[in-house]
Amino acid sequence: MLELFVPDLFIENYKVLSIDALQNAGIKLLVIDIDNTLVPFDVEKPDWEAMDFLMRLKASKVTPVIVSNNHEPRVRKFLEDTGIAYYYESRKPLKTTYMKVVKDFRVKAEEVATIGDQLMTDVFGANRCGFYTILTRPLVRRDIFSTKINRILEKGMFYILKKKGLFDRDSYEM
Ligand SMILES: [Mg+2]
Repeated sequence: MLELFVPDLFIENYKVLSIDALQNAGIKLLVIDIDNTLVPFDVEKPDWEAMDFLMRLKASKVTPVIVSNNHEPRVRKFLEDTGIAYYYESRKPLKTTYMKVVKDFRVKAEEVATIGDQLMTDVFGANRCGFYTILTRPLVRRDIFSTKINRILEKGMFYILKKKGLFDRDSYEM
């Protein structure tokens, strides 16, 4: 059970993720969170680095797809003119949207990686689907209210995982 909260990979942010490594590992789809993963939650559009990342993915064999718990206008506006598929109000950590993505893109669970900044939604939800899970640090400390609650739960879970010797966020030099 606790293992479902342990990410397969922990990195500072998306900027240090190797698309080549994903490709070589047989990953065909990268499920990406927006808020505090690609940009701070209160930033409307991708900055040039986030846009570059998305475009490099598009040009690679790893298809980017956005799965966000945020509302449609925010997600649509963020991805305007990018041609990238998106799912909004995804209700992560529920499996529903993730399973829909697998079906829509005709991939196997083991061909899917996810990247996100939250343990309780991004990592827990994706691990339950058998995806390769990548956790990042949140880009900023500002969060919307519902995330603030998740951060409290997350803090408790980080503590438990560390106690059990399963995952120690603080052991990473970044
Ligand atoms: Mg997020």
